[in-house]
Amino acid sequence: MNEPLRTLPSIDRLLGHPQVQGLLAQFSREAVVDLARQVVEDARATASQGQPVPSLDTLAQRVARLAEHRWRAGPRRVINATGVVLHTNLGRAPLSADALHAMQEVALGYSDLEMDVEEGERGSRQEHVRYLLCALTGAEDALVVNNNASAVLLGLAALARGKEVIVSRGEAVEIGGGFRIPDVLRQSGATLVEVGTTNRTYLSDYENALTPNTSAILRVHRSNFRLLGFTHEPPLGDLVALGHSKGVPVLHDLGSGCLLDTAAFGLAHEPMPQESIRAGADLVFFSGDKLLGAPQAGIVVGKRSLVRMLARHPLARAVRIDKVSLAGLSATLLHYLKGEAVAKIPIWQMLSRPLEGLHQTAHKWQEAIGPRAQVRKGESTIGGGSLPGETLPTWLVALSAEGVPGGAKELARRLRSHTPPVIARIQEEQVVLDPRTVLPDEEQALLAAVRWALGA
Ligand SMILES: *Cc1c(COP(=O)(O)O)cnc(C)c1O
Repeated sequence: MNEPLRTLPSIDRLLGHPQVQGLLAQFSREAVVDLARQVVEDARATASQGQPVPSLDTLAQRVARLAEHRWRAGPRRVINATGVVLHTNLGRAPLSADALHAMQEVALGYSDLEMDVEEGERGSRQEHVRYLLCALTGAEDALVVNNNASAVLLGLAALARGKEVIVSRGEAVEIGGGFRIPDVLRQSGATLVEVGTTNRTYLSDYENALTPNTSAILRVHRSNFRLLGFTHEPPLGDLVALGHSKGVPVLHDLGSGCLLDTAAFGLAHEPMPQESIRAGADLVFFSGDKLLGAPQAGIVVGKRSLVRMLARHPLARAVRIDKVSLAGLSATLLHYLKGEAVAKIPIWQMLSRPLEGLHQTAHKWQEAIGPRAQVRKGESTIGGGSLPGETLPTWLVALSAEGVPGGAKELARRLRSHTPPVIARIQEEQVVLDPRTVLPDEEQALLAAVRWALGA
């Protein structure tokens, strides 16, 4: 052993340090000993490369910091000041108070998840949510699973395994996070038959690709990019007419699955599940936590005989929805059925906030922060695989990073390192805060974070 390494404290000495003793009082001994070992090992490795040997205090501090970083409950609450309403990295849709209450009720106690309480017999966890989804979309039947990716996978596995599925080249897309339509088709055991070109696909392209081995026509909504210019695609109704003339079902992966008309909010029209059902689509797939504003879920609505095939498939059990999400989803769907979605569901409140109200909030923040802040016009985006390229006008609070070593990037990092973390955008070397996505009860914490970051 070389001379400096001799001075490296032993694990036992490190465990005796008051700071580590504090950890031993909170966490399991094995876990703390393991962490102490890792810290000493790392110190030994760097010391043998000529770095100075850390003191006992430094090592104890490292153990404490690691414990703080690794052993906390997560995900944690953060404040979304980006103005991106459905931010996938920030957990997509915040939930309504009623959804939260419903989730808490079934989580804290037992529930009639799979029991018909009146008859005292076994029931289906899908029973209740099915009524709501059918009433809202006009579909014959419905099934809810873990997320939309698994809904599409289940649909293809149940209907198309070992057979062909026709998809337009312009729709063989990647949704994000590695979810690619061609890969999902392969996983389901179906064969992808691509038709048309990237920008133009005609009804005749589909017609020419139909064979006795065709199991479905799949239409995929381009939820995260726009195709502009010289483009063509047949209306869904024409695809349905073609498919049905040959006994081939038409499946529609909508992505967001928005139950309200987004055009009423100054946005482009996002295709709606009820429109696809009306056009005759046999199965329609969409997410719970995009523009529906519910917990994570994958929703399938459509023809009863096909929905039943999905429900009976062995994969259905593997992608089953849990009771807590189900309770939150049902409570959210009820808001739509009662016509109170805009008043009660946070994402619709955010999307419908009047510009004047945003201006007032921005001014209030500017006054609370002081001369380092400026109010200026900007744009909020929708995000989360919905309404690509669509923006809503907003008022931003821009923070000057002048005098901060490291500039706007460092200021944004400081905001993220606050408790609770504040996530902001950087624009033209300034940190900008968009009031649209900040919930009313988060404002004080946001202002405290900003004052701290600017003063730190
Ligand atoms: C988002 C999206 C999916 C995946 O949905 P998740 O609920 O995130 O699993 C699938 N298809 C389309 C078109 C999407 O936009």
